[in-house]
Amino acid sequence: MIKKTLLYLSFPLVAFTACNGGGTGNKDTQRNAVADDPVNAGFKSYCSQFEEALWAQEPEWATQMGYHKYDAKLTIPDEATKKASLAFYTAQLDRLKAFDPARLTPSHQTDYRMIENYLLSRQWSLQTLKEGEWNPSAYNVTGLIAFMLSENYAPLKSRLTDCYSRIQQIPAYYEAAKQQLRNPVAELKQLGIDQNEGGLYVLEKDFIDSLAKADFTPQEKDNMRQSALKAAAAVKAYTAHLKSWKNYTPRDFRLGKALYEDKFRYEIQSSLTAEQTYAAAVARKHYLHGEMARISRELWPKYFGSTTAPADILELIGKMIDTLSANHVKPDEFQAAIEKQIPQLIRFIREKNLLDIDSTKPLVIRKEPAYMAGVAGASISAPGPYDKGGNTYYNVGSLAGWPAAKAESYLREYNHYILQILNIHEAIPGHYTQLVYANRSPSIIKSIFGNGAMIEGWAVYTEQMMLENGYGNNEPEMWLMWYKWHLRTVCNTILDYSVHAGQMSKEEALHLLTKEAFQQQAEAEGKWKRVSVTNVQLTSYYSGYQAIYNLREAMKQRLGNKFDLRAFHEQFLSYGSAPVKYISELMLQQ
Ligand code: ZN
Ligand code: ZN
Repeated sequence: MIKKTLLYLSFPLVAFTACNGGGTGNKDTQRNAVADDPVNAGFKSYCSQFEEALWAQEPEWATQMGYHKYDAKLTIPDEATKKASLAFYTAQLDRLKAFDPARLTPSHQTDYRMIENYLLSRQWSLQTLKEGEWNPSAYNVTGLIAFMLSENYAPLKSRLTDCYSRIQQIPAYYEAAKQQLRNPVAELKQLGIDQNEGGLYVLEKDFIDSLAKADFTPQEKDNMRQSALKAAAAVKAYTAHLKSWKNYTPRDFRLGKALYEDKFRYEIQSSLTAEQTYAAAVARKHYLHGEMARISRELWPKYFGSTTAPADILELIGKMIDTLSANHVKPDEFQAAIEKQIPQLIRFIREKNLLDIDSTKPLVIRKEPAYMAGVAGASISAPGPYDKGGNTYYNVGSLAGWPAAKAESYLREYNHYILQILNIHEAIPGHYTQLVYANRSPSIIKSIFGNGAMIEGWAVYTEQMMLENGYGNNEPEMWLMWYKWHLRTVCNTILDYSVHAGQMSKEEALHLLTKEAFQQQAEAEGKWKRVSVTNVQLTSYYSGYQAIYNLREAMKQRLGNKFDLRAFHEQFLSYGSAPVKYISELMLQQ
């Protein structure tokens, strides 16, 4: 998955992480061809004004995107801010109406739709979803401070000065947060407590330790230290408030069918509805079970000799996967195993001529920072589109301190085969590669409103694409384990929809994940935790994958023997992280 490194109220509920660009852009010829058309020139100028206004409105998001003009501002989540946000969305929607999308170039049309979708979804979010009233984990500023301390976008002294300014506003921030909350979801209340407490070290230690390395007077340092401790106290008062909160009616953690369809439409931006996507996922699950049974029967004699294979296909597949899962690294070799695979993947992609890999953008592997903890085992964090030269990190969760049984279960899940697929998905040619391309795209709009389904769909698509091209030597074991992994993205969709638009119980969910998707108990328990604190996002993987795969097959049909896989990949990625339905329109138009 791609992780939002910062969580707060004013953020759009989509994945928007993007990597800094190399400057050697893929040229969008359509856009260049009409640079002198007054309508399109006018729209381009509107986009720049919109970006500037957006960052003034969303200073924390701006920081993460690498736009540092408002780094000293912290948005206090109170009624005045809400009013100002709504006024901003209305005013910008009015300004958009001045343009007729039909007269814009295809690339500008996509930008138009992405801006419009953002504004409408934010309006809906504030007025209808009202997450600020029931999600205590939406309030957290320690991630923002951690980001400012660890990213070298400016000299340390200037970053610390901005941090100090924001830290001074933290008590007011949490005071306002308390006022906004009405009926917290129990699961999100606990998450809010865990994540805020998990981030305290940023204020109590990291910020204070950094002061020693910067050139401030002793008096200034003392003021800054006092302020950080006061901010830490405000975080603790917030979590204490959440812990001791009695006499309220918690909101159900399930989103409900109507809100779910709305959110799916805004966030996934698929040509299908949530319900149609769910139905497609159910069909895909049956197909995968058939393929997995076929491979398991083929492999059976190799691993079980003349023992009779189970007649029940889920039992047969489960036994085969269980046997193959024993092939895994030791807990303390986990990070090293990941590091070793990255250059091997790059070599394979170059040998097979699958797409260009930019060797000037190195990937830094690090232990997952505590402020991100709690959701996934590995993820990519990348600097924003304005942030030239920032690091792209591959965050790997550490298994240090885990009880042996828990570590064993995790490692069986991320076994020899799956660990390679995880690296394809997260790093190369999955998320990391896609993000490098996204930032070469000339459209800042497409970078900042990156579509989560396109981003996740690409990562899932590359898993299959690598195997189709012979990665893993076409071993049936590798294919079986990939199907199992892929089944997870399919079941993510089934699970998310069934839980949030239906009434699927934890017991039913664990049955789906362990019996029909062959997951280890720990993984399944973790997924239940995730589905109880997120919604819609889990459907992005399968939804995006399906759209990309269908586009590729349509292009193959159209181009016949002129179809070139590398050209397809590079063109697809050149549009930035736009919804696949818009990329499809652009590619099929040509
Ligand atoms: Zn992902
Ligand atoms: Zn083992």
